[in-house]
Amino acid sequence: MKTVEQKPKYSLNEEQEKKLILREYRSLLRALKDKIKPGDKDILRRAFEMAADAHSSMRRKSGEPYILHPIAVAKICIEEIGLGVRSTVCALLHDTVEDTDITLQDIEREFGSEISRIVDGLTKISNVIDSSASQQAENFKKILLTLTDDPRVILIKLADRLNNMRTLDSMKREKQLKIASETVYIFAPLAHRMGLYSIKTELEDLAMKYLEPDTYKEIAKKLAETKRDRTRYINEFIKPIKEKLERNKFDFEIYGRPKNIHSIWNKMKKKGVTFEEVYDLFAIRIILNSPQEREKEDCWKVYSLITDEYTPSIERLRDWVSNPKSNGYEALHTTVMGPRGKWVEVQIRTKRMNEIAEKGLAAHWKYKEGSANENRFDKWFQQIREVLYNQDADSVDFLQDFKMSFLTEEIYIYTPKGDIKMLPVGSTALDFAFAIHTAIGAKTIGAKVNHKLVPISYKLRSGDQVEIITSNKQTPSEDWLSFVVTAKAKAKVKEALKEEKKKVADEGRYTIQRKLEGMGVSMQQANLDELVQFYKLHSNLELFYQVAIKNIDLRELKEFKVIGDRIEYPRPVKIVQEHKIESHTPAQSGNKQDTELIIFGESSDKIMYHLANCCKPIPGDDVFGFITTGKGLAIHRTNCPNAPKLLANYGHRIVKTKWAKNKEISFLTGVRIIGMDDVGVVSKITGLISAELKINIAALTIEASEGLFEGNIKVYVHDKEELDELVNRLKDLSGIESVERYDTEDLPGKQ
Ligand code: MN
Repeated sequence: MKTVEQKPKYSLNEEQEKKLILREYRSLLRALKDKIKPGDKDILRRAFEMAADAHSSMRRKSGEPYILHPIAVAKICIEEIGLGVRSTVCALLHDTVEDTDITLQDIEREFGSEISRIVDGLTKISNVIDSSASQQAENFKKILLTLTDDPRVILIKLADRLNNMRTLDSMKREKQLKIASETVYIFAPLAHRMGLYSIKTELEDLAMKYLEPDTYKEIAKKLAETKRDRTRYINEFIKPIKEKLERNKFDFEIYGRPKNIHSIWNKMKKKGVTFEEVYDLFAIRIILNSPQEREKEDCWKVYSLITDEYTPSIERLRDWVSNPKSNGYEALHTTVMGPRGKWVEVQIRTKRMNEIAEKGLAAHWKYKEGSANENRFDKWFQQIREVLYNQDADSVDFLQDFKMSFLTEEIYIYTPKGDIKMLPVGSTALDFAFAIHTAIGAKTIGAKVNHKLVPISYKLRSGDQVEIITSNKQTPSEDWLSFVVTAKAKAKVKEALKEEKKKVADEGRYTIQRKLEGMGVSMQQANLDELVQFYKLHSNLELFYQVAIKNIDLRELKEFKVIGDRIEYPRPVKIVQEHKIESHTPAQSGNKQDTELIIFGESSDKIMYHLANCCKPIPGDDVFGFITTGKGLAIHRTNCPNAPKLLANYGHRIVKTKWAKNKEISFLTGVRIIGMDDVGVVSKITGLISAELKINIAALTIEASEGLFEGNIKVYVHDKEELDELVNRLKDLSGIESVERYDTEDLPGKQ
C-alpha cells in the first residue's frame, strides 16, 4: 500500500528544477527500456519537449512545475498498467490541449491521427451549454465513447486520476471532497472493471482517506498495531502448506497480504462488526509458475493439498479458473479453517493469472493469443457501444445506469441450451430477455426459471437457467422501466414507448394542423413553439401527444391573436427598464462558491439551510453544503451514503461550510450499544448519560437475548465533541462491547 507523503514546502531554484525534470524524464525512459524500438526515442523526446514547453509557465497546487504531473502519469501507464510507447506519448501530452495553447491539429500534425484521437478523448468538454447537466457526467460519456474505439483512453485517464489522488494533499478541502467522491463513484469501479485490482484498491483507500479521515486513520492504526500478531499467524499457517508444495515439486511463491482499509471498512459496515471481528483482514496468496496447459490442473492440485491440511468452508469456494470473471480475472479462492479456529482466505493463481489481476486489460492483450476468453473485453465494449449510441436520457441518469449495467458484480445465467450470459446483479427475467435479443425482450410475457413459471420482473440469481416465454400480442409498457436494470433493456423499452407515443401523437398533430388552418395560419415551427410554451410543455411531440389523448382540448386557442402567419398569446406588457438595470450587474454568481465561506448554525442565521435527513449531521461533523433546487442549502456529512453521488455529479453546486460555535441548539442523534446483559446495566448507562454528562435522552430501547443486550438510545447533543465524549465514556463502562453512532431510522444493510 502506498501512502501519500506530506511534502515539505516547495523550494527549488530554476537550475535545480530543470535537473529534477530531466531526471524524472530519464527515469521514465528507463522504465520503458524493454519496449523502445528504433525511432521511438525521437517521438518520446518530441512529446516531452512539446509538453514541457507548453506547460513551462504552469505550476501544480503544490508549487511543483506542472510537467512533473504528465511525466508521473506516463510512468504509471508504463509501470503499473503495462502500456507502451504510444500511450506514453499520449500521457505526456494529455493535459496540453485542455490547458495550453496547443491544439488537436498541432498534435495531429506532429504525431499523427492515432495519438491525436487519444489525446482528444482525454481532453475534457470545457464549455457546457446546459448548466443543469452534470459536466462530470458529460465528460464521462465522452471518455466512454472514445473508450470503445480505443481502450487506452480510459487506461491513461485512470493513471491521471491515480496521480491526482496521490497528490491530493495540496488541494483545497472542497476540491478534495469532489475529486475523492468522483473517484469512489466511478473511477474505482471502472478500474475494477478493467481488471486493474491494485489501482482500484489504491484509489479506494486514497478516497477514503479524504472522505472519512477519522475512520481511515483509526483502521490504519489498528492494522499497524496488530501487524506482529498477524505476521506470526500467517507464518504458522503457511509453514505446513509450504512443505507440502515443496514435497510435490511445485515452483511457487506464497505470502500473506493485508486487505485494504476501504474493504475492511466496507465489511465492518456491511456486517455491523468491529475491526476485531473482521476475520479476513488478510488473504494468503499462492502464485504458481506453471506452463499454460497445466494451469488448471496445478491450481486444483494445490487446492487439494491445502484442504488436506485445513478444512474448507463449502460455501466459500470460487472457481474463476474454469469460469473467469468478465474483467478477465482468473483464480481459485477458498476459505479454510486455520490454526486456533480462524477462517483464512486462500487465493491460488498462476503467474500469468497474477499479471492479469495486477495489470488488467493490457496484460490480457499480451496473452490474448489462443485464450478461450479472448473477446471478453471486445464483447463488453460492444455492449457499451450499443447503449451509448442508443440513449438520449439525461446524463446523470446515464451515469447511474452505466454504473448499474457495467460496473457492478455479475451473475451467470444459463439459456435452455446451456449457454452462459453474464448480467449485472439485480437483473430480472426481462433483462435477460433483452440481453438475448431486443425482439424477444419486447414480446416477453413471462419466464421459466429452473423450470418454474415466474413473472417478467423476477430477480435472477447466479446459476439460474432461464427460458423466456413470448407472445406476439405483447408490447413494452411504462412500468417495465421500474424493474429492468440493464442499460440495454432500459434504452430499448424507452425507445419502444417513444415509438408508440409518436404513433398516437400523429393524430394530435393532425388536429392542431386543422385548427391552425381554421385560423388562417400554417403549422410552422414558430406557431408550435408558441403553443408548447403556452401549455408549459417541452416538445412538439409532447404537445401532439397531449392533444391526441385529449389532455389538452385547445379551447384557449380562441384567445390567441393572429398576426400575419403567426399566432401570439397576448402577454402583459413588460417593463423594459428593469431588464437593463439587471444586465449591468456582472453575471458571475455561478462561480462564487469557491471563495465563499458559509457559516451556519448561528441563531441569527440568514442563510436558508436544512440538515439533510439522510445523514443527520450535528455540529462538529465534517460536512459540506449542497445547493438544492428550490429548498436552499442542504447540509450533508461527508460520509453520508448520498455524498459520493452528489459530489461526483454536481461538483459545481457544492459549498464550503463551517460550523459556528453553538451551545444553544441541540440535535437529535442515535447511539447503539452492545454489551453483556447484567443487572443494573440500564441504570449504569442512563446514570452516565443524564446524571453525569447531563445529556437529554429522547428515547431508549433495550433488548436482551442470550446474555447479550442491544440498546438504542436517542439523545440530544450540542455537537460532535459532546457526542464523542459520550461514546468514549460509554465504551469505558464494564461489560460494554461496542458503542456506535447511528442515524436514527437507518437499518443495517440499507445504503
Ligand atoms: Mn492530468
